[in-house]
Formats: sequence, structure tokens, C-alpha cells
Amino acid sequence: MKKLAFFTLIIVFTLTSSCSDDTTDENQTDILSQQEKDDLLFLREEEKLARDVYLYSFDKYGEAIFNNIARSEQQHMNQLLTLINNYNLNDSASSERGVFNNQELQGLYNDLTTLSDLSLIDALTVGAIIEDLDISDIDEFEGRTNIADILNTYDKLKCGSRNHLRSYIGRLIVSGVDYVPQFISLDEFNEIINSQKESCN
Ligand code: MN
Ligand code: MN
Repeated sequence: MKKLAFFTLIIVFTLTSSCSDDTTDENQTDILSQQEKDDLLFLREEEKLARDVYLYSFDKYGEAIFNNIARSEQQHMNQLLTLINNYNLNDSASSERGVFNNQELQGLYNDLTTLSDLSLIDALTVGAIIEDLDISDIDEFEGRTNIADILNTYDKLKCGSRNHLRSYIGRLIVSGVDYVPQFISLDEFNEIINSQKESCN
């Protein structure tokens, strides 16, 4: 099980939102705590991580699933940008594919694209890992804010992630691969994959 070492590496990489260094505007932004600001900026780049890794896999394998989900991740990035602009934060996300300001996300991008290179099954597994991680992080971020429009966006993003997870797991199941969740609980995972695709708008 060559993959185990990789999974362990990912688990060790705890995705607490790292600090952002650009919060110079102090008027409107005072509505948000530093943690709320950090979470928004981090999640914007985390959605970009998903998009960029899936685009990488689409280029490599030409499978529609990667392109379709990458488009959804672009919408998630846009929804976060709307919040970031509404709260006068400085968007830190690079417009360049595969480039991240957050060094943890940069390392993760590098590792996950390397893994995706191995085979289509590995690329689909990477998809499941990213969605697993994304849901887990948003679960955590939801506990750190009570602002309605932020919670509303988090809900939509998580809904999208559940659908993405269902899609990737569906493909892995027909390929005979048994994915074990690395970040969310087995209960949460089973509840998601045993339920129908949702409408997230
Ligand atoms: Mn997403
Ligand atoms: Mn996703």
C-alpha cells in the first residue's frame, strides 16, 4: 500500500487556517474577527487548490468529471471572492494556475498533482481526498462564525463538496477501489455517499 504513506503525510498536515498577512483596511473589516478573515482567505485558496488539481487531471486524462467539478470549484472561488470584496479584505489568491500564497496549500498542490500523475484511479482518489478535506475544514470554519452571509456561503460550498465526493466515490466504486475517509468521520462519509445528489443553489 504505497498510498498509505502519502495519506499519513496528509493527515499530519493539519489544515487549521493559517494566518493571513494582508488586512490593512481597518474600517469595514472590523466587523469580522481575525479568524473569520483568515478563514475566508484560506478557503478561497483551498477552493483554488481543488480547481487547479482537477484542471491538471483533466489535462492529463481528458475525463469530463474533472472539468465539470473544476467549473464548480471556480464558482466556489467566485462566491468567496464576493464575500472577500464585501468585507473589504484583500484577495490573496494568485490568478496563475498551480500557484499559491499559502505555502501549505502550495505543498499540497505539488503532492496531489504528483499523485494524480500516477494513474486515473489515483487522480480520482485525489479528488476524494480533496473533497473529504474540504468538508472537514468547512465543518470547522462554520463553528467560528455566526455571520449569516458567511454561513450561507459555507453551506453552499459544503453542499457542492458532498456532491463532488459522491461523484468521485461513485467512480472509485465501479473501479473496485474502497476509499477510506481521512478527515471526516466514517459516519459523516457514509451518510453522504449513501444519500442522493443535492441541489446546492
Ligand atoms: Mn468547492
Ligand atoms: Mn469540490
